[in-house]
Amino acid sequence: MERLHKIILEEGNALSSNVLKVDSFLNHQVDPELMYEMGTYFKNYFKDKGITKIFTIESSGIAPSVMTAMQMGLKMVTLKKQGSKILSGDVYQTTVHSFTKDMNYELTLSKKFIDSEDKILIIDDFLANGEAALGAARLVEEAGASVAGIGIVIEKSFQPGPQILKEKGYDVYSLARIKKLGENLIEFEK
Ligand code: 5GP
Repeated sequence: MERLHKIILEEGNALSSNVLKVDSFLNHQVDPELMYEMGTYFKNYFKDKGITKIFTIESSGIAPSVMTAMQMGLKMVTLKKQGSKILSGDVYQTTVHSFTKDMNYELTLSKKFIDSEDKILIIDDFLANGEAALGAARLVEEAGASVAGIGIVIEKSFQPGPQILKEKGYDVYSLARIKKLGENLIEFEK
């Protein structure tokens, strides 16, 4: 997605060789027009996959997900990050390790928002080690539903996540794929 590449180069800030800060348009301040265009790309790629609902992980996946859901005429569900295990019979929960915070959280989905017929599109802002996307997929599959695809805004293709998700057979579509990060360096895959 050309416009995304451009804004990443102009406003992205590599905090290290593996963390990119994009808080001016995605992670803190949000550019709604850019989010809408992301939604158009996700819709165009996933429109024939029979998707019934979109899931995202709070909180930075919400903006691109809601724009995608609106353009696909679907509901969007935010998977919650709970601090500790508060298990009740009404939720599915799974432990996920946070890439940026280096701590575990319980990804939580209310049972009332999924059924076994659902084909879920999972959308997230970044793909690094694949922990968040795999956690979301576990919740979907625990409910007996299926993952119809995974949409990522920024994939860091030099980290293990993309390969792990593809090996598990998930259809991963990323709007920007970064090959290398470093001081004053952001290099995209072709
Ligand atoms: P993963 O679970 O794939 O290891 O990491 C994905 C999650 O970690 C995303 O939901 C995102 O919030 C966060 N994340 C991973 N890498 C980055 C990064 O380079 N920059 C930012 N801002 N967040 C990241």
